[in-house]
Amino acid sequence: MESEPEPSTSNATASSWLCRDDFDRERMLDMEDRVRPARRRTFAILAVAIGAVGPWLGWWPLLFLIPASLCFASADRLMPRVTKPELLMFAAWIGSEITIAGAVALEGGPRVSALSWLAIPVITLSTRFSMRGVVAGVAIACGLVLAVAFGIDATAVLNSPELVTAPMVLIICVAVLSTPLMRSDIQHRSDAVIDQLTGMLNRNALKVRVQELTQQSAITGEPIGLIVGDLDHFKEINDTHGHSVGDAVLKEVAYLMRKQLRAFDLAYRLGGEEFLILLPGSDLNQAEDLAERLRARVGVENVAGGIAVTMSFGVAASARDEPFDYSTVFTKADSALYRAKREGRDRVRLAEHDVLAVPALA
Ligand code: GH3
Ligand code: MG
Ligand code: MG
Repeated sequence: MESEPEPSTSNATASSWLCRDDFDRERMLDMEDRVRPARRRTFAILAVAIGAVGPWLGWWPLLFLIPASLCFASADRLMPRVTKPELLMFAAWIGSEITIAGAVALEGGPRVSALSWLAIPVITLSTRFSMRGVVAGVAIACGLVLAVAFGIDATAVLNSPELVTAPMVLIICVAVLSTPLMRSDIQHRSDAVIDQLTGMLNRNALKVRVQELTQQSAITGEPIGLIVGDLDHFKEINDTHGHSVGDAVLKEVAYLMRKQLRAFDLAYRLGGEEFLILLPGSDLNQAEDLAERLRARVGVENVAGGIAVTMSFGVAASARDEPFDYSTVFTKADSALYRAKREGRDRVRLAEHDVLAVPALA
């Protein structure tokens, strides 16, 4: 199978085998909010169906319905408190499959038509996870079909192999048919938050992250550094070498900058030739050091086949133990950038208020 599109963000805070980065995790959490009401409706439909046929079939299907809904309810409650909520959701998903398999096993194994109900949760795999999660879930669901069927009545399966092939084919086909929707969803989400030229995050992504950082800093009291950088005389590069060379310059400069960042630093293209970097946990001095490194790195390199470029930077940071107010910190950094431009470009300037706030050095 083809792999899903790879968003190239630099914001991996905690990766797991299910979610390679925050992009995957944000999709999972957003989709979970959307899946939750549909899941509740599904449980209601199943409860009505079980109630309707209960007098004839018995009440055994409740054996899976109740524990499965409890698994998801506990995962929903615990998810906001953990750093890798995808693992919790996958565990709840396995829990729901095991309870279906367990109820079918208690009722008689392979001859129970509800064995194919193991395909129902499979539909939700691609709404939450990327291909790895789907493959792992399908393997688990098929493994449960085989375990229940052979464990309870191997002879029946050997006489009628369709008792296992039919539910397994259903599981696999449901998973395969749901993947185009997953790919399209990942692609569109990626297009919405990733700048296609540089691979950096764009303004849309910034809004979400700023909200999170504001909440985090209120809890941790950690400072947040902010750097804005702008290429110097970029219009001349376009005018002299053409727009496509200008694009190549932007791409290479973005790459040079990203290589200097830590995994949890966040790099954005604000538009044109202007970039923004958010540095969780960095104070003004640390942010200044990084801006100076970025300036030196970009300035020393000839890009796009031999073009010399320079950049100017403005730096600001929220104070330790003070809540992060993005618009204040950004405005300070932006005016520092304008000062860097006015004072001759190819330099780093600190926000004026912050410079005054730094104790005078001997
Ligand atoms: P300064 O040193 O004051 O920043 O001067 P500058 O020439 O870099 O700034 P100015 O704002 O005058 O020009 C920015 C130019 O960037 C103008 C615009 O055509 C160009 N630009 C904006 N977006 C893109 C893009 O995606 N690709 C290319 N090639 N050029 C772009
Ligand atoms: Mg410029
Ligand atoms: Mg500009």
